[in-house]
Amino acid sequence: MGLRSGTDFIDGLRRSPRETWVGGRRVDDITGDLTFRRPIQSIAQLFDLQVSPEHREVMSYTPEDAGAVAGTSFMIPRTHADLVKRRQAMKVWADATFGMVGRSPDYLNTVLMTWAESADFFGQRGAQFADNVRNYYKYCRDRDLFLTHAIVNPQTDRSKGSHQQEGEFAHLGVVEETKDGLIVRGAKMLATHGPTADELLIYPQPGIREGEERYVLAFGIPSATPGLRYICREPFDDGSMSAWDHPLGARFEEPDAVCVFNDVLIPWDRVFLYGDVKMGNALFAQASIRNHTGHQTAVRGLAKTQFVTAVAIAMTRTVKSDVFLHVQEQLGELLGYLQLIEAGILMSEAKAEPTGRGAIRPAYAPLQALRYHLPKFYERMVQVTQVLGAGGLLINPTEADLRSAIGPDIERYYRGAGVDAETRTRIFKLAWDVTGTQFGQRMLQYERYYAGDPVRVGAAYYLGYDVEPLLAMVKRALDETQAG
Ligand SMILES: Cc1cc2nc3c(=O)[nH]c(=O)nc-3n(C[C@H](O)[C@H](O)[C@H](O)COP(=O)(O)OP(=O)(O)OC[C@H]3O[C@@H](n4cnc5c(N)ncnc54)[C@H](O)[C@@H]3O)c2cc1C
Repeated sequence: MGLRSGTDFIDGLRRSPRETWVGGRRVDDITGDLTFRRPIQSIAQLFDLQVSPEHREVMSYTPEDAGAVAGTSFMIPRTHADLVKRRQAMKVWADATFGMVGRSPDYLNTVLMTWAESADFFGQRGAQFADNVRNYYKYCRDRDLFLTHAIVNPQTDRSKGSHQQEGEFAHLGVVEETKDGLIVRGAKMLATHGPTADELLIYPQPGIREGEERYVLAFGIPSATPGLRYICREPFDDGSMSAWDHPLGARFEEPDAVCVFNDVLIPWDRVFLYGDVKMGNALFAQASIRNHTGHQTAVRGLAKTQFVTAVAIAMTRTVKSDVFLHVQEQLGELLGYLQLIEAGILMSEAKAEPTGRGAIRPAYAPLQALRYHLPKFYERMVQVTQVLGAGGLLINPTEADLRSAIGPDIERYYRGAGVDAETRTRIFKLAWDVTGTQFGQRMLQYERYYAGDPVRVGAAYYLGYDVEPLLAMVKRALDETQAG
């Protein structure tokens, strides 16, 4: 009980084999498999930071109802200082991976925290569901577990509801209710760090239609639950990728997986919501999920955009292209995005609002604006880095080339402006790994989609925004210029 180290985390995974498929192989003990070694290590590194003397204070707190300290991302914020502490803790983890690990444990810890804080919402369907949420939150918090989630139905046929798909259980749904719990069958996508997490959360997203009752489900179960299968996408790194050649991809790849449920029993005490379309649609708003996950993802996004900007600057300085006006202008554009992101985060804290239950949440409007714009900033950063790096990004030799008989040629022709060939190459490799390799392209796709469909995010922002104060300006402009 209490905070865990990286070794504790890995030992926990080893003790609970889960059915994982990758490249046609079944792997149960993922800790012993090369493909998963580095993803596990990248998370273990975060747990180690949490218990390090340098970060322990900001990364932990003592809950009123627990004997031991817990991770700050589980802390229900009651004051502005609590929000600041949450942000500082999130930044430590985000910086550790240069923002490359999207689903660090603080993401789902945050979701669970919002649920515990709004447990009465779940209680509308029976007091036991509110208790289930509170107990599960404490269970995960006190054991410092790593959770992931899968909340999207497989694409199959997007023009139809879950109940209209070919096959009753193309999407995850309830097969039957038993005295022990719900039996569920079907699939959900896309659990990043699915097999490498301790627990899996399933919950509904807004947009559910009447008739889809059996597909409305919120529950949390161990990754090692019988009948639950993770099917991973083809990995980019089989565990042998050189960190010299792929300085990011060889360290921070996150496995993505589809979760297949073959008649899995979800015990009643792990069921939080089911069968209620109205509640399924209301969950995100009622539990302040977006306020708090928006806070975490903006902080993580800030670390990532700071890093890409730094790489772009370092790269241009390596060949002194930053002496040109238009290059300076583009680097200035990137630096400006960093300020806008940071401003949005601080504004969300400054405008924090009470939840009405004794806690506070960061303001929704600036964070939702970042949820929409940060991926666009990021896309632009990738583009600027690629345009400024130009052909230099596509001539990178490998470390093996440098150490081979052609090494002297590389040393002679690959150097930069006052920079030796090895340093220049390594900086350009960093730039290509973050923007162009399979790893870099996943990073881009992650930013575009990790928070849902950007089209609907933007439209919902408009539809939910109080535009009356803006329209009043139009009215005043008309009034002030009325004829006569
Ligand atoms: C790298 C990566 C990691 C991810 N990690 C996670 C994770 O850890 N957990 C998790 O749960 N999810 C995760 N996701 C999934 C993510 O939540 C979804 O990608 C996102 O919600 C969009 O859903 P979709 O991919 O099914 O796209 P779709 O909803 O199928 O959209 C595809 C396109 O069709 C359009 N479209 C489809 N349906 C509609 C509609 N009804 N109305 C209007 N337009 C529509 C969209 O505008 C879009 O252009 C991840 C995604 C990526 C790319």
